[in-house]
Amino acid sequence: MHRQMSLLRDLQAIDSYIDRLRQELKQLDSGERIRAKLEKNRQRMEDIKERYNQCYATAAEQERRLQEFDARIRQAEADLYSGRITNPRELQLMQHEIEQAKQTREELDIEMLRMWEMLETMKQDIDASEKDLQQLERLYEAHVEDYRQRRAALEAEIAFNEHEREKLAALIDPDVRQRYQTLRERLGGIAVAVVEQKACSVCHTLLTPYTLTRLETEDALITCESCGRLLYDPKLLE
Ligand SMILES: [Zn+2]
Repeated sequence: MHRQMSLLRDLQAIDSYIDRLRQELKQLDSGERIRAKLEKNRQRMEDIKERYNQCYATAAEQERRLQEFDARIRQAEADLYSGRITNPRELQLMQHEIEQAKQTREELDIEMLRMWEMLETMKQDIDASEKDLQQLERLYEAHVEDYRQRRAALEAEIAFNEHEREKLAALIDPDVRQRYQTLRERLGGIAVAVVEQKACSVCHTLLTPYTLTRLETEDALITCESCGRLLYDPKLLE
């Protein structure tokens, strides 16, 4: 049985290693968090751009109206100095209207200027956000690439070790292998324990002299009285 036990020890080592690799594979970060952030920022970018375009359209329309207003003032001034109108009261009234229109024109101009300044600020925000977005895109691509490489490496390592495991398992008696398998399923993947300072290395229960003697003298599979795992004493295995 020492030969079988030594094979079981090796099988447990390789199985535990495969378990760790699988766990690592499961915990690999595929970049979902960055992708979600990227998606959110893209959407925000679309919203900002849409708002900018709306503001721009409003400003352009305002500018067009301003030009119409200017044309009307010019027309009124042309009428005023054409000599067509001779009534002094009418002339005075027209002059007054033109003055008022010019004042309104100045106010509109200031408003217009504010709008263009606001649009300029919005444009700067868009440019900065665009840069941030591009940076995040590059980060995401790099992360995904790294994730793919690590996943591929882990999968290859698992495949190689599974192959090695099968070769090793084939050397073990079927009933022993079955017992190991059942224990592994029942005991969280660890079916084999080492005797360390007369105790089980997994559950740390001190083994009885009877069990320790059996380990030395009997050619059988000996289990921990407490946790039921298959025991081996490193001194007794080659
Ligand atoms: Zn134990």
